Amino acid sequence: QAVFQSDVRTLLEQVGTGKESLSFMKRRIRRLAAQWASAARRLDDKLRNHWREQKRILVHVGFLTEESGDVFSPKVLKGGPLGEMVQWADILTALHVLGHDLKISVSVKELHGFLGVPPGRGSCPLTGPLPFDLIYTDYHGLQQMKQHMGLSLRKHKCHIRVIDTFGTEPAYNHEEYATLHGYRTNWGYWNLHGQQYMTMFPHTPDNSFMGFVVEQLNETERQNIQRNKVNNMAVVYGKEARMWKLKGKERFLAILHRYMEIHGTVYYETQRPPEVPAFVKNHGLLPQQELQQLLRKAKLFIGFGFPYEGPAPLEAIASGCIFLQPKFDPPHSSLNHEFFRGKPTSRKVSSQHPYAEQYIGRPHVITVDFNNSEEFDAAIREIMKINVEPFLPYEYTCEGMLERVHAYIQNQDFCSPEAPFPPVNLSMPWLGSRPSPFILLPNSSILTWAPNASSYTPWPPLSSLRLLASLEDQSCVKACQSAGLICEPALYRFINIKEAFSALDFQCEGLESEMNHLFPAFSVEHAECGLQQDPLLFSCAGSSAKYQRLCPCRDYRIGQVALCSDCL
Ligand code: UDP
Repeated sequence: QAVFQSDVRTLLEQVGTGKESLSFMKRRIRRLAAQWASAARRLDDKLRNHWREQKRILVHVGFLTEESGDVFSPKVLKGGPLGEMVQWADILTALHVLGHDLKISVSVKELHGFLGVPPGRGSCPLTGPLPFDLIYTDYHGLQQMKQHMGLSLRKHKCHIRVIDTFGTEPAYNHEEYATLHGYRTNWGYWNLHGQQYMTMFPHTPDNSFMGFVVEQLNETERQNIQRNKVNNMAVVYGKEARMWKLKGKERFLAILHRYMEIHGTVYYETQRPPEVPAFVKNHGLLPQQELQQLLRKAKLFIGFGFPYEGPAPLEAIASGCIFLQPKFDPPHSSLNHEFFRGKPTSRKVSSQHPYAEQYIGRPHVITVDFNNSEEFDAAIREIMKINVEPFLPYEYTCEGMLERVHAYIQNQDFCSPEAPFPPVNLSMPWLGSRPSPFILLPNSSILTWAPNASSYTPWPPLSSLRLLASLEDQSCVKACQSAGLICEPALYRFINIKEAFSALDFQCEGLESEMNHLFPAFSVEHAECGLQQDPLLFSCAGSSAKYQRLCPCRDYRIGQVALCSDCL
């Protein structure tokens, strides 16, 4: 039985010392400890009577190991990326607070020690059982585990979770398919289940959304913020001088400067970086807490297009700022932008921070074309006029993250062999021949399955499944979204059956089974129905003008998109 623990002292000891990155993480863990503790109390109340199994968990932070080059640690105080450190600090805290038996490794030597690989041996297959129920790592760590565990990695890989900031789609993850169809990258092809990859934002339902947390304000702090907001104060998003190099920046900064005083937090050593105009008040890189004080005063937080999808805009919005960011038209992706090139995803990034754009939106987030001076000017004038309250989506609070990680740990299972579907002796509801454990409720094109006597306990539960057909050239991500739902890859196997086609009124001239990340799908031209041959390729992403795809959608909790209403 796992017991919530709010004292973080043992966690801080485990994190260790000797690197700036570890010190950053420890400062964060200390600063947020009280928030985690009260979140744990609330979740404990909410989950009353739930049995929570205590898991043995190894966290191996690959990118911080010397063996991977550790390029991050030396940049912590120089404006380098901090989002990853923020996320790992929060993952460690969540696992600790949930009361699991945690081991932390930031070197290959420690990894060996925890896995029981004898010292001095290169690649040594683990002979005994894996001493952990779960291993959280990243792509670097995965590579290191492969080198040092050899073939036994394959045997144990269902226990692994990969923290993967931008996400990995199934087509890129499947080695054979990626090689045959041009989806090979430097990262993918580990043949994991898509949901074993865990992302920083809910980028794609093909992966699990891990996230991080943002400090939440209490009532007094909210009131103080409202009182002390400076209506004409803007802070620029971008702690490295190179983020200020954007073409055309002079034009929109000049417009902004007409209305507002502009602040920056750009790292510098001795001299002011030439990229930062003289009228900007540059504070230099600030400790997280001081940045937060600045954001609590400011009215506007403005992005220049880079970095993509970081934590800072959520911190700004939670501090009562409006986040103004550039729209990308055409969207940035691995096809047209250097930063995303070679990343194992086809996702199209429509602005600097699509989560802020799509999940939060106005009045907290305003997304405009920065090259259109009139549109930009109008946005600034609107911002000067409106008043916004601090806002933080539940999924980015400590309680939201604890709830989600708890649900994953207790329910996600990539190790047990899956029960066959359709189960033997089960009549399909739409055949209407015999009484069945499923009730089918036609509701225009949406069908609801309500299991009432099933011995199968998939997670998310079948009660949340809604079967939908996509339009031609539409992905299941979009198809589910347009019905107010979310695509759920874990439920694909329940719709990868020929009966699902007839339930949607598709008349199959032929039926085949193939490895194709768009399947199950209906080929419009040939009236062919295609089933998915390899469960590893079940994918919400992807579309083709040739196909209408079958999509397993589910509902989700407001503010906690990772969980369906019956998921806890
Ligand atoms: N940050 C900071 N000081 C600053 C600017 C940013 O401590 O002067 C922190 C900020 O609080 C955030 C983290 O840096 O949690 C990462 O921010 P960003 O969104 O820039 O993402 P990154 O590109 O660093 O991953």
